[in-house]
Amino acid sequence: MAALIEGFYVGPLQMRCSVVTCLETGDTVIIDGGDEAPRLIDWIDTASGDGPDESNMPELEIERTVVVLLNTHAHFDHSGAIPPLLERYGVEWYLHEGDHQLQTTAKQSAERWRLHAPEPALPTKTFEHGDEVIFGSLRFEVRHAPGHSLGSVCLILRTPEDEPDHAFVGDVIFAGGVGRTDIPNSGGDWPLLKKSIEEQLFTLDDETVVYPGHGPLTTIGEERKSNPFVGERAMDPTRNFYF
Ligand SMILES: [Zn+2]
Repeated sequence: MAALIEGFYVGPLQMRCSVVTCLETGDTVIIDGGDEAPRLIDWIDTASGDGPDESNMPELEIERTVVVLLNTHAHFDHSGAIPPLLERYGVEWYLHEGDHQLQTTAKQSAERWRLHAPEPALPTKTFEHGDEVIFGSLRFEVRHAPGHSLGSVCLILRTPEDEPDHAFVGDVIFAGGVGRTDIPNSGGDWPLLKKSIEEQLFTLDDETVVYPGHGPLTTIGEERKSNPFVGERAMDPTRNFYF
């Protein structure tokens, strides 16, 4: 069964929040509830307000029930709206243990950007690498991909054989870019991030659609071919000598 996947660019850093809904059951998973909780809630509950910035089925109307909140990692632009979303939906919130400490510093991190974030929520559930988390007919594989933060995970939504899978990757990789490794308190590490991308993402099918935390959608095949930091282009040593 295909899934409805809606993207909302939220907050001053235009972080992608993904709202994934099972077409069979209406079960809805919110990935990276980072900001603009009222906008998300209006759309999910009553299909009103500004709605998503992108959707794989824009004409579809469906009744939704939010069943869980998932996070790729704990930077405040990804987790700042968790408190109002938890309050509204009363569901579990999953975050990898490697980012639990980082999550407690979300408010101070926001202040470094001169932004306001509420007192951070604490996760109620923990992901492990290799876990499968299943909600309705939505089945996500959890892949631990540290390097941007200690507890970054990529959430791979498995779909029927004839359709591409979907990878929600947070700030591990972007269209033509990779996550920062210099953010305080995060355990950033470039060799580790590169290894995570190679082992956890480049082992997926080329057709897999990638939903980065910022910027446009891409695919595994496109990044493998053209990302200047990882993959085939980066492996060509003549391209690494600029002067
Ligand atoms: Zn981040």
